[in-house]
Amino acid sequence: MIRTQENHYLARRKDSRKKFRRGHAPYLGKIRFYWCDSCNVPRIAHTKCAICGTKSRVVNLSPPGDPFPAMEGHLQRAIRTIDEQFGEGIGTSLLPDNKTIIMNKVSSLDAMYEIVIDGVIIGRLRFDIPKRGYTFLLSLEGARRIGRSSKLKWISIYDGVLQYLKDGANLMLPGIQGCDSGIEIDDEVWIVNSDGLVVGSGIARMSGSEMAREKKGFAVKIREVSDPIAASENPKTATWDDAVKANIKDLAKIELEAVDFIKDVIAQNSERPLVVGFSGGKDSLATYLVVENAIGKSPPIFFMDTGLELPETIEFITGFAKKRHVKILGEQAGDRFWDSIDVFGPPARDFRWCCKVLKLGPAATSIAQKIGDETLSFMGQRKLESFQRSIEPRVTENPWVPGQLSANPIQNWNALEVWLYIFSKKEVFNPLYSKGYHRMGCYLCPASPLAELESLRHTHPELYQKWAKKMKDWAIKYGFPDEWYELGFWRWKTLPKGQLELVTHLGLDITSTRRGPSENIKLNVTRGVAPCTKSGFSLEGSFSSGIDLDRLSKVMPIFGKTRFSEELGTLHTISSENHISLFSSGNIVIRGSKEKVIENLTKKIERATKRALLCQACGSCIPQCSQGALHLKDGQISVDETKCINCLECDAWPCPTYLA
Ligand code: SF4
Ligand code: SF4
Ligand SMILES: [Zn+2]
Repeated sequence: MIRTQENHYLARRKDSRKKFRRGHAPYLGKIRFYWCDSCNVPRIAHTKCAICGTKSRVVNLSPPGDPFPAMEGHLQRAIRTIDEQFGEGIGTSLLPDNKTIIMNKVSSLDAMYEIVIDGVIIGRLRFDIPKRGYTFLLSLEGARRIGRSSKLKWISIYDGVLQYLKDGANLMLPGIQGCDSGIEIDDEVWIVNSDGLVVGSGIARMSGSEMAREKKGFAVKIREVSDPIAASENPKTATWDDAVKANIKDLAKIELEAVDFIKDVIAQNSERPLVVGFSGGKDSLATYLVVENAIGKSPPIFFMDTGLELPETIEFITGFAKKRHVKILGEQAGDRFWDSIDVFGPPARDFRWCCKVLKLGPAATSIAQKIGDETLSFMGQRKLESFQRSIEPRVTENPWVPGQLSANPIQNWNALEVWLYIFSKKEVFNPLYSKGYHRMGCYLCPASPLAELESLRHTHPELYQKWAKKMKDWAIKYGFPDEWYELGFWRWKTLPKGQLELVTHLGLDITSTRRGPSENIKLNVTRGVAPCTKSGFSLEGSFSSGIDLDRLSKVMPIFGKTRFSEELGTLHTISSENHISLFSSGNIVIRGSKEKVIENLTKKIERATKRALLCQACGSCIPQCSQGALHLKDGQISVDETKCINCLECDAWPCPTYLA
């Protein structure tokens, strides 16, 4: 028995009210998630169920609150994880296939999902980077359900201890009556009282054998605790068809709102040809269906094939267009990613050259060539996807693709609404969702969690291997260990705090930053602007290495008349009253009459050099030139001296080669 004097054995929990650590999920809007207990299905509104008339009950999800139906692949993954932790068959008993199960992404270092069944959260499925696998974290309700059939990971406590736990203490060793000897440190455990009834869940801080052997110590970090009450299981079985029926009136409401919005936008932009941006994901599919409904016919699809789409996505989009007899507009980037990675290195969240090279540039070119100067694109962007998207207007000019007006009909929908809408239309969707993927699009996107890249390793090993081989080369170049790419640290150029802590924790030799290619092209001023006899002032400098003047000669005309002599290894440009002389050694001299102008010009020449030498032919700067003076020649940017008016508008364009 625990006596009151033994309080000192009970370490206080920092915040006994917090069930799960909530992280720092941004506020992206009010959470809308409800349940009909009599039909046992999720609801999208706090209204009466369309089947039984019962008012829905609020289910408290963690922010940002974008619940979605757990598909076959997601459930299999969760079941496997639960079985590994709590014994064969426990996963299926917890997640049976005759109920509508919901997942909700929550903030974590990589990927983590709340799992909701019978309208209650039974736990969280968390992806752990070091083990490249999942852990199921038990909520109290999950523990109650597991406690009915599992024989593993239990701890029984003396009855007197429960009150201390309820008061906020963690479980210390004298309070333990017995436990599963197979418990290992950091295992998820469930706690029972002397009658064998579940009273809590937590994480083991010592192994089962230590608990049996030792006399005192910190045994379990408590997550949730309560008096023993039965699991709140709802025996009613349900299907997704039932969920659609229960929500059909509320779905009609949000559909009508989106249809009205679409009609309004079209009325205000009737001269623009209309397309629907289609990525093969659920959001663009729902958008397509609403637009189709609003205009009474099937619109053309705009799809940018980055060359990094999974074959299922390509097949799905092609099949979708074929079934509807509509055109797929857009470009194919082919092998451009694999060519550019040799120059830029792996893309990163803070170094996204890939978006510009594979998507935005080709999209700008494609729209200009195939659709016309101005288009109206309906897109599937939703506020709940990210903070940036949560603050964007519903109709916006795409800053990267001139002439494209983007409108987002389902901007305020959550993922459950999107899915129920798709289910209600009985529309076929991308099979990758059923295989357990969460996001469509480039399979090597640095914005993906490592969990998603692990899926790739299992479902498409040949694509994963191609990537891994490339990454190994880069790891060697940077002097990083294999974990740099295997554990996903490549996804940042400068590692953020959480990832850096993990690097330290794992004892890896990975520096927090890696250099971008443009940092290797640096213009150092060796003699700052100084008076000179010839023409007022001059500046001398040198590039960090020799320069391919022939290549540079294709871009320097943006400053003025340019002459290149291969024999002498010199390049001369006359920019108004300034004279620029470049030498193949990398040296440069700028002469002019005004100090400030010379200084300014120096920065611009450095940029032009990066652009000339590192151009990846994304083509995105081409439509920025009002004179039509830019074009791609031999796969790189070139300026037509006869057309260029030296306005330098193209220098201001955020070319991916400027990215440090
Ligand atoms: S110079 Fe133009 S075409 Fe080349 S990478 Fe930069 S923006 Fe793209
Ligand atoms: S935008 Fe066109 S005209 Fe202006 S500097 Fe560039 S190439 Fe020349
Ligand atoms: Zn109902």
